[in-house]
Amino acid sequence: MNDITVHDKTFQLFLSETEIQTAINRIGQQITVDYKGRTPLFIGVLNGAFMFCSDLMKAVDVSCEITFVRLSSYTGTKSTGEVRTIMSLQEEVAGRDIILVEDIVDTGLTMQKALKYFHTLNPNSVEIASLLVKPDALQCELDVKYRGFDIPEKFVVGYGLDYDGYGRNFKDIYQLKLDQV
Ligand code: 5GP
Repeated sequence: MNDITVHDKTFQLFLSETEIQTAINRIGQQITVDYKGRTPLFIGVLNGAFMFCSDLMKAVDVSCEITFVRLSSYTGTKSTGEVRTIMSLQEEVAGRDIILVEDIVDTGLTMQKALKYFHTLNPNSVEIASLLVKPDALQCELDVKYRGFDIPEKFVVGYGLDYDGYGRNFKDIYQLKLDQV
């Protein structure tokens, strides 16, 4: 019951759709208050954050724009520790209030590299919104201002998060079962 299989691995229910949506509404309200009178540019990190981005935008009540970038540091269920290419943006970032939208912060290296890159484009401000954070896995100082859940250092899938390309379409988030690595 409540288990799913993706490729060769079994996952158990970890965060329900209702819990996820409640957390997103809370973050949306925080952003609405913090960005009142400003027009933030949300930059979603593909592919994992596409669902979170979509729901977060709907939970925010300020005039805003959205665009996407692509970064990658994962193969299978392990972080490689190396961050691959940042897809270039068409939008003007200088002077803008940027909110980087990420599905999950693990080692933090992806977001650290993204922050450094976006700061070179002279924005007015840059903040991070991440649905999930694994505090015990962090390998650098990273301020994740808007976060849904702090979670243990276990691989998760669903709600945009994949295991080798699959599992993104689940409405809930599932965690790798205990007996598997
Ligand atoms: P970091 O650079 O913080 O180690 O990794 C961030 C990226 O790794 C995330 O955007 C996500 O794509 C991937 N990632 C980290 N942990 C998990 C996880 O538990 N499940 C999935 N599906 N991806 C993860």
